Amino acid sequence: MVLNVVKFGHPVLRAKGARIETITPAVKKLIADMLETMYASRGVGLAAQQIGEALQLTVIDVREATDRPSTLEIGGETRDPHSIMPLVLINPEVKKVGEVVPGPEGCLSFPEIYADIKRPESVDVVALDGEGRRIEFRCGGLLARAVQHEVDHLNGLLFIDRMDAKTKAELKPELDALQEETRVELKKKVPVH
Ligand code: ZN
Repeated sequence: MVLNVVKFGHPVLRAKGARIETITPAVKKLIADMLETMYASRGVGLAAQQIGEALQLTVIDVREATDRPSTLEIGGETRDPHSIMPLVLINPEVKKVGEVVPGPEGCLSFPEIYADIKRPESVDVVALDGEGRRIEFRCGGLLARAVQHEVDHLNGLLFIDRMDAKTKAELKPELDALQEETRVELKKKVPVH
């Protein structure tokens, strides 16, 4: 089922996700729905907060982004990044290992808004997969960027928090308009008794 993606201004985007201790059928259904929603929205990643659930859960798939390469190492061996797609990360922990580099980013919760964001080029990741198995890998390029962007979401952080002041100031009118649109939308959804 394709879920509604919440936009900037919704408070859930600022909520830190709760850890998932058990992979219940409900969690599995949520993962399937999040993958479907990510593909329908043509995104490379989607965090639970973006579909209104404050959980330590994100899905990623970089296969469509053929113009932006990714790298993957498992146990010190180079692997094809496509071999672990789609990637489901539960309770992920990320350690930065690479140099900080700028790169273009967008976010499904910020339609039509793009900016260069500085992030480490590669990261070490430890997480559980969709079956609750422990996975460990090092990734670089777009995959590392996507992982860091999504893990930020799980901690209530957004890519606007990592923009330089000048970029954020330039985008302010669009960000304010989006926030206001979300606020109006949320107000409409409040049940009237
Ligand atoms: Zn995002």
